[in-house]
Amino acid sequence: MLFSRLLSPLIIPLVIVFSALWLRATIAQLPETYLLLIGYLPHVLLVVSGFLCLQFNQLRSLLITITLSISCLIIQLYLQNSLQENTTLIVFILLTTMLPVLLLLISWFPERGVLSVYGLLYFAIICLPLALAIYLYQNPSLLTTAVLYFPIREWEFSVLSPLAVIIFLFSMIHQLGRLWLYQQPIDAALSVILLSLLINFVLFDQTLISIVIFSALQLIIIWAVLKQSHDMAYRDELTGLPGRRALNEALKSPGRKYVLAMMDIDHFKNFNDKYGHDIGDDVLKIVASKMAQISGGGRAYRYGGEEFTVLFKGKELESCIPHLEAVRAEIASYLISIRENKTRPKSGKEGKQQRGKQSKPKSISVTISIGVAKRTANLLTPEQVLKAADNALYKAKNAGRNCLIAAK
Ligand code: GH3
Ligand code: MG
Ligand code: MG
Repeated sequence: MLFSRLLSPLIIPLVIVFSALWLRATIAQLPETYLLLIGYLPHVLLVVSGFLCLQFNQLRSLLITITLSISCLIIQLYLQNSLQENTTLIVFILLTTMLPVLLLLISWFPERGVLSVYGLLYFAIICLPLALAIYLYQNPSLLTTAVLYFPIREWEFSVLSPLAVIIFLFSMIHQLGRLWLYQQPIDAALSVILLSLLINFVLFDQTLISIVIFSALQLIIIWAVLKQSHDMAYRDELTGLPGRRALNEALKSPGRKYVLAMMDIDHFKNFNDKYGHDIGDDVLKIVASKMAQISGGGRAYRYGGEEFTVLFKGKELESCIPHLEAVRAEIASYLISIRENKTRPKSGKEGKQQRGKQSKPKSISVTISIGVAKRTANLLTPEQVLKAADNALYKAKNAGRNCLIAAK
């Protein structure tokens, strides 16, 4: 659980940033002219990731890209002198405390279209701290007071203020929490971006560190945008299970030995008619979450509507049956708590009146029927095996439902 929810989504962004750090020493040995060109790399990558964000309509990623690019520019223009100098130190303090706050803020923005009123609003919100930073830069006396409260300690390895470290650590923990909950690539990207920025500011006096890190960060955003679009295409939005497209993809190379099960919720049309489509959707999500947890190496897909498919690669039919039966029994015995309105409201006004006197929660349950088939000499293609599983499902329905039938 810990691995699949927290560690595995972080692997690729971490590999990107640590490879970049590893390459830094080699890049530093390049001739001067190359180094000048490499200074443009984060901004070239900004253009690429900016276009991708626009193309895939991902506003938050676009805002992160822009924020990072402005920060990189600030480092290149204002932070090339010794931090002992007062103005350089002020810019450093402003950047190291405001950047994590800005990124934290962006992670809270609900995802909206890039070319929407929200896009402009969010952009204005992230410009506010930038305006404040410019104002403070021009009126450094105001900052001196703040610096007195949060003094910079000349640590052996860094001049990062304890306040900035606390903000960074808090934002990172917050971001990991979001990743655990929402499982979005952008949250994985932001967790690693915050860690990398902290590394960048701790090792700030190392040559080329910012160029290398900020280029890696743009690559991480490009990865997140592509991964997000891939997930959207392959995942079913309602249930979060992989969808039909992902099943078709998996069935292109299922191996020589595999088992396919078709599962269908029983009398689901009646259920929808009785309790409403919204409660139907909630039940679909619950059923899907039980299927996602199937043991024995099975992988569940939403085939469409209230039908699901489970693929067991490299397994014998007999060994899969207990795992499928376990899911069937688990769903049948699971009590779902709902609030039922006796008749479904026809108008909004009627609905309001009914909601006022809602009945007590009621526990209901649903059942599923399962048809299962394996690849044999007669059933050679995945389409044939799927058809056989579907026929077996039909038999399970006729046999009274809430049962499993295996194709002969
Ligand atoms: P059976 O036991 O024979 O499978 O009966 P059934 O009523 O489940 O089968 P049928 O194929 O007649 O109806 C399937 C119903 O599933 C129709 C539709 O209302 C419902 N359904 C399909 N997709 C969704 C969905 O995404 N959300 C909700 N709420 N209902 C859905
Ligand atoms: Mg059906
Ligand atoms: Mg059904």
